[in-house]
Amino acid sequence: MLKSSNNIELNKQVLGQQVTLAGWVDRRRDHGHLIFIDLRDRSGIVQLAFNPEISPEAHETASKMRSEFVIQVTGTVSLRPQGTQNLKLPTGEIEITVESAKILSQAKTPPFYINEEVEVDENVRLKYRYLDLRRPRMKHNLLLRYQVIRYMRNFLDEREFIEVETPILIKSTPEGARDYLVPSRVYPGKFYALPQSPQQLKQLLMVAGVEKYYQIAKCFRDEDTRADRQPEFTQLDIEMSFVEEQDVMTLMEDLFTGLVESVKPELTVVKPFTRLTYEQAMERYGSDKPDLRYGMEIGDVSDIADSSGFEVFKTAINQGGRVRGIVAHGCAGYSRRQLNELNEIARLAGAGGVVAIALEAGDTPLDLITLDEVKSQALKYLTVEQIIRFGKKLKAGRGDLIILAAGKDELTSTVLDRLRREFGKRLQLIDNKVVHFCFITGFPLFYRDEANDRWDSMHHPFTSPREEDKDIMTTQPEKVYGRHYDMVLNGFEIAGGSIRIHEPELQRKVFRLLKYSDLQIDERFGHMMEAFEFGAPPHGGIAAGIDRLVMLLCGESSIREVIPFPKNQNAQDVTFGAPDSVSKEQLDELGIKIIEN
Ligand code: ASP
Repeated sequence: MLKSSNNIELNKQVLGQQVTLAGWVDRRRDHGHLIFIDLRDRSGIVQLAFNPEISPEAHETASKMRSEFVIQVTGTVSLRPQGTQNLKLPTGEIEITVESAKILSQAKTPPFYINEEVEVDENVRLKYRYLDLRRPRMKHNLLLRYQVIRYMRNFLDEREFIEVETPILIKSTPEGARDYLVPSRVYPGKFYALPQSPQQLKQLLMVAGVEKYYQIAKCFRDEDTRADRQPEFTQLDIEMSFVEEQDVMTLMEDLFTGLVESVKPELTVVKPFTRLTYEQAMERYGSDKPDLRYGMEIGDVSDIADSSGFEVFKTAINQGGRVRGIVAHGCAGYSRRQLNELNEIARLAGAGGVVAIALEAGDTPLDLITLDEVKSQALKYLTVEQIIRFGKKLKAGRGDLIILAAGKDELTSTVLDRLRREFGKRLQLIDNKVVHFCFITGFPLFYRDEANDRWDSMHHPFTSPREEDKDIMTTQPEKVYGRHYDMVLNGFEIAGGSIRIHEPELQRKVFRLLKYSDLQIDERFGHMMEAFEFGAPPHGGIAAGIDRLVMLLCGESSIREVIPFPKNQNAQDVTFGAPDSVSKEQLDELGIKIIEN
């Protein structure tokens, strides 16, 4: 090799050793007589000292070196002079006294600083992603991603899983998003679809007798790009035969606990993982992906609200809704502007607003609070007793702000979830060192798609109903629960899976309920239905989003920061300039004609 050591390996233990190093010029300091260069390789930085008395040629070459030049040097590991040591750097006690040096490659001035953490426009970063990835933060993210995937592979290998690749050119899969289509040249007018997930393939692998499958799988969904969504993303995809919910969840708990403790030992994993039903999660946090690193639970105060003379409350309750609330500790002094901000959040969530009740701070207990110590836009409709009861039910105290939302559960959940998240940030309730996983189970199997007058799967149509609900599936679909489980981490859904249907008749019943005709079922899923007739084992699985997981472990707020070559916010690949137009010949071959709008 052109180098004998990695920079990071050099320290006091190897003083006097002659080494050959190669890498990039991170920084150059010209002190006239002496030139110092911080040499960067993947492992880290080491200081090179060029002294003309030791090698005039090397010193001369160093004077031509600039940032990001690729260089090679040979020299001796030496102690840095007293007072010039840098204990922040792992190699900060030594330097390399350079005896010979060579420029391997010159570099233009980069479009942004590589050696400084500065804000750079994202499109510029993505265009020059190879330079962006040289930066310490991105290098760290890239490495952590690798460690996460390596941990997964090793863990599953030990548990006798085998990794099986599945095709990228397949047929539309019903995961609920839009497909990416690939036109076929051989069959003009026909298309492959890129997999939204390997769902059907992993189930077929169970029929094939694989028993324990996993894959680091690429999935493609044509959805609008967001901070935690990309057109193509990576999942840890798992499927197992002869399992029930607990088996899959326990496997995930072991895997993710070990993973975080191994790659991020400075973080604390809350053990055992919290388990909530969908109903509990919605009731207590207004969300099926709650951030459990802080409390601020939602409480139901409908009974108290109903006894008030406040129309807003009464109407909501009469229309089948409820009045629910949260408490923001220490926020009684909120200004009108701050209260307006809360109302704005509620309005964006679809509500008319929220009712805020500020319990002024004071020495007397809540029981003795007087009306002139309470501030609220609804004050004239409430008695002091009702306010005290609200406070007690929601565990509020003097100095706190009670926030109430009235309406259908869907609405109050959305509003209070958004406000809870907002206060989580504002009141700094979140401990960033805590990793709080949670399983959510007990989801309804279907939801009503009113617009199309049909039922749709809450997750995907391969999820099995609970045994006890199978008989009522066609008669009372709204009462059927699925054997689905989600895994949530710090407010993000990071995995989802289920015990599957393995009986062909039951699978057909589900498809019919979703308003597929028998012809459509046979055309789209005939391969699966038939496979289930050849001895399908009971099976279940899960898929975890690797990008989101790594994003959270890296403390980043966008998955683009942890994907080596992501699409930008507009779903474009800026490095390559994709999507792009293609030649007329290519289109003709595919039998495609572009119609300009
Ligand atoms: N295929 C599902 C998904 O991608 C996960 C699963 O059910 O295993 O979300």
